[in-house]
Amino acid sequence: MDYDAFFRSKLDALREDGNYRVFADIERKAGAFPAAHNHGEIGPKDVTVWCSNDYLGMGQHPKVLAAMKEAIERCGAGAGGTRNISGTNHYHILLEQALADLHQKEAALLFTSGYVSNWAALGTLAAKIPGCIVLSDADNHASMIEGIRHSRAERHIFKHNDPEDLDRKLSALDPAAPKLVAFESVYSMDGDIAPIAEFCDVAERHGAMTYLDEVHAVGMYGPRGGGIAEREGLMDRLTVIEGTLGKAFGVMGGYIAASAPLCDFIRSFASGFIFTTALPPAIAAGACASVQHLKESNQEREAQRRNVALVRQRLNAIGIPVLDNPSHIVPVMVNDPVKCKWISDWLMQMHGVYVQPINYPTVPKGTERLRLTPSAVHTDSDIAAMVDGLSEIWSQCALARVVA
Ligand SMILES: *Cc1c(COP(=O)(O)O)cnc(C)c1O
Repeated sequence: MDYDAFFRSKLDALREDGNYRVFADIERKAGAFPAAHNHGEIGPKDVTVWCSNDYLGMGQHPKVLAAMKEAIERCGAGAGGTRNISGTNHYHILLEQALADLHQKEAALLFTSGYVSNWAALGTLAAKIPGCIVLSDADNHASMIEGIRHSRAERHIFKHNDPEDLDRKLSALDPAAPKLVAFESVYSMDGDIAPIAEFCDVAERHGAMTYLDEVHAVGMYGPRGGGIAEREGLMDRLTVIEGTLGKAFGVMGGYIAASAPLCDFIRSFASGFIFTTALPPAIAAGACASVQHLKESNQEREAQRRNVALVRQRLNAIGIPVLDNPSHIVPVMVNDPVKCKWISDWLMQMHGVYVQPINYPTVPKGTERLRLTPSAVHTDSDIAAMVDGLSEIWSQCALARVVA
């Protein structure tokens, strides 16, 4: 077989569908983010990033950078091993304590990313609890789906954000079987929010555990940044809360927070936890500084909320079709993969506005979009420039506007 020819033909098919992904080669400017230096061929050298998950600008926060520099000076670059074999650094312990406290759980357990935390924790729970049945929201993230699939446990998909459908599905199962209900709080592409209390009610009635992915909510919602479950006073009702340190916390890594026995169980049985090098100490130190800062400071959350409201208001005023939702994610709907990519290229080229097109398979075909993420650190003139650019391209492409 001509392997490369096979790879090329598959890639050509992606290109024809408008779904071939191209990296934007940018260099984030610490202290000036969302400004970035563009190394790519398209667009000016100075661009403004409009699609980052560094929602609060914590990736450049002086406390985070100082903590990382100090940890590098003290401990060096890497962890030097897995958590079990020489890789546990005191910073990991401090960070796990900070995360357990954030979610008011007995314990927390770190992973190298949010993806790995979902994959390993869900996979291990579902595989190792005899006869465990998993109920998974239809819109769950790939990391959850892969973990559940890998477990080979029986699984049922319930309708997105639909507690009644969950109830129906649970009612059809053996009442004595162990069960796990997995869902997210803020869904990253539509920006809608799960009815967490209702899901907990249903799960409790059926004796099921609950697993909540708060990746797009930690740092951002709740008085201490504990997520939607904190905001709604529900943290104690969830069996597992999962989060990332790579989005609002601005660094990298993932975690679960849960009871001490559950965390110890995952620590002891999850391959994706055991057989991989621990996060570098500096990463843990930076994440810890970020988590602690956002427990005490509302300033970043307030600035971000203001910018989200302003962007929505400006786009609504000129009829750009934005998906309405109660979160910080502003999806501008284009509903065509080729146009979506083209608009994105054009915004970069003509306006230095960087917003990545979101196409299939990240979102369903026909719902292609530009996913704007206004941050705490965008200025009013950043917002004006982005809105003007979008308005111009909307007229040029003769795309429909929404009549208010
Ligand atoms: C990004 C994301 C993850 C993975 O987190 P990383 O830390 O980026 O690996 C998990 N769940 C959801 C819903 C996400 O959007």
